Amino acid sequence: MSQQLLEESVTGGSAPDGPRSHAKIEAKRVAKLYPKPGSKRETTAVLDGFDLRIESGEFLSLLGPSGCGKSTFLNILAGLETYNGGTVLIDGKRVDGVDKNVGVVFQGYALFPWLTAQKNVEVGLKIRGVPRADRRARAAEVLETVGLTAAADRLPHQLSGGMRQRVAIARVLAYEPEILVFDEPFAALDAQTREFLQGELLRIWESGENKKTVLFVTHSIDEAVFLSDRIAVMTRSPGSVKALIDVDLPRHRTNELRSSEDFVHVRSRVARVLEEEVNYGSDAR
Ligand code: ADP
Repeated sequence: MSQQLLEESVTGGSAPDGPRSHAKIEAKRVAKLYPKPGSKRETTAVLDGFDLRIESGEFLSLLGPSGCGKSTFLNILAGLETYNGGTVLIDGKRVDGVDKNVGVVFQGYALFPWLTAQKNVEVGLKIRGVPRADRRARAAEVLETVGLTAAADRLPHQLSGGMRQRVAIARVLAYEPEILVFDEPFAALDAQTREFLQGELLRIWESGENKKTVLFVTHSIDEAVFLSDRIAVMTRSPGSVKALIDVDLPRHRTNELRSSEDFVHVRSRVARVLEEEVNYGSDAR
């Protein structure tokens, strides 16, 4: 047994104090400042002392009061924002700009309206220099994965909101990133479509040979509990991670789980932690 494996088996791999292997994603004491509106010199801290460790293949949701910095952290991880202090590491290496190993799905579908679903999926591959025939084959494959083969030739306005979001997910899956980050991807959809797509997302995530590492930003407690292995609840702004909650529910998860006692129990634990932050905010106003 290698020294590293030995250390992991002794420490459980994630013991807080023992020697550890690299996490897939590790944020340490991250700070982010934005200029105060209307001021050239003053700044506001959006993130302060933000710590988070996400293991390879883990599905972690980031939950917190509105404006606490969830999207800001996601953008830092995706290399779309800089930060002012601390470190953000992927596979032990500092994030330094956009990384092809990180696929981002936003709330807005950001599809090109003049391109078919198939061509929208191909765009990202084209940018990465994938030859035409390979692009076509790969796009067809991921459209099948998200259940949209029959809609491949439709334009975005001919698709429902749920279908458009599935195209956006297919586009990111097409180039096989090891990390998927989602910024409230289902927030604009009706409740039924949202629940359907949560199930679809888990089906897709579980079907991969190597499970992708997922960071899922949401403000819905139910969504976080249904999807996640763990939930990181953030403090109000300036945001940091206040609590990490294990979602000890069996996989494969189906809609029946949502009404189970275990689900309701985890849900209320998360709600209690979150409510403290939200209520503090309203008292302070
Ligand atoms: P959340 O996703 O938790 O709702 P965000 O990360 O979007 O929060 O934003 C956190 C805070 O940072 C908000 O108060 C927001 O107004 C502010 N903010 C976000 N982006 C910028 C920016 N580019 N310039 C200045 N302030 C920003």
